[in-house]
Amino acid sequence: MYFSGMHHWMRPLVGGVGAILALHHVRPARPDAFQPNRPLEITPEFLDRLLRRLARSRIDVVSLDEMHRRYIENDFARRFVCLTFDDGYSDFLRWAYPLLRERKLPFATFIATSFPDRLGELWWLALEAVIARNNRIGMVINGTDQYFECATTRQKRELYGAIYGYLRSMRTEEEVRHAVRDLCACYNVDVASFCRDLCMSWQDIAELADDPLCTIGAHTVNHMVLKKVSSDATVRAEMEMSRAVLEAALGKRPEHLAFPVGDVTSAGSREFRIAAELGFKTALTTRPGVLYKVHRDYLTALPRISVNGEFQRQRYLKVLMSGAGTAVANRFRRLSVA
Ligand SMILES: [Zn+2]
Repeated sequence: MYFSGMHHWMRPLVGGVGAILALHHVRPARPDAFQPNRPLEITPEFLDRLLRRLARSRIDVVSLDEMHRRYIENDFARRFVCLTFDDGYSDFLRWAYPLLRERKLPFATFIATSFPDRLGELWWLALEAVIARNNRIGMVINGTDQYFECATTRQKRELYGAIYGYLRSMRTEEEVRHAVRDLCACYNVDVASFCRDLCMSWQDIAELADDPLCTIGAHTVNHMVLKKVSSDATVRAEMEMSRAVLEAALGKRPEHLAFPVGDVTSAGSREFRIAAELGFKTALTTRPGVLYKVHRDYLTALPRISVNGEFQRQRYLKVLMSGAGTAVANRFRRLSVA
């Protein structure tokens, strides 16, 4: 698309008023061949280049509050970008925060409160560890014991993809958690260790929250795929409790929410409605897209542009920021809010 120049002619059509970028891990690349979760990370060098590019552009980097103000006051004189980092990983503090502070750029980080409580289950990383550390795995699939060879990198990649897909297809989040807990118990992987080793502590978060550049947002308590939770009350409690816990810990009430996982299978109209009823100013999905004026009516269903391993090349990002890439992905549907 870049070489076709398509993003130039599409710009007036789909350029939008701004964009929210979604990032996860920021850390130097690791040499391991098997890294199925690599799409959730970028390198500090890539972030540095992205921030330099934004500084040269006529795009304002703004906080979520400022984005919200622009929507409420219909102030779209300049295009804007919000930088958001999900899950509160420690690598953010070490690698991303210094770059943002040096340039005085506002940012938001979304905390699932079970992570600093050290009770969170980062099950996608636990699954990666089980497959990385074993040459053969047994697992109950659809009620029967099955065994899989996973000695080579290729087998590990394929098996991760298959099991991940199987888990995501499960009807409830509880089933996913049970299956991963069983697997971890069999293969001596400590599920809690990922949260302990990779996520910011309460003290880290409190220090970060003191910086006026930082917006701490709610990301539920247990980081569940909310759309799969049958009870409305539980969905509401996940959002409300995480806000209350963050407020108690930090002395400031979070006004923005990001839905865990956040794609179309994870958050839908019920979740958008509950976030609005709870009074969040904005709630963010990971549905791909740039922002339009009309999103003023859908502030608890905002799309984001994922900045991840697949898009580490600047020209991809350029296309995405013009809105053309996601417009193609959306087949030109301008809004995805149902
Ligand atoms: Zn998350």
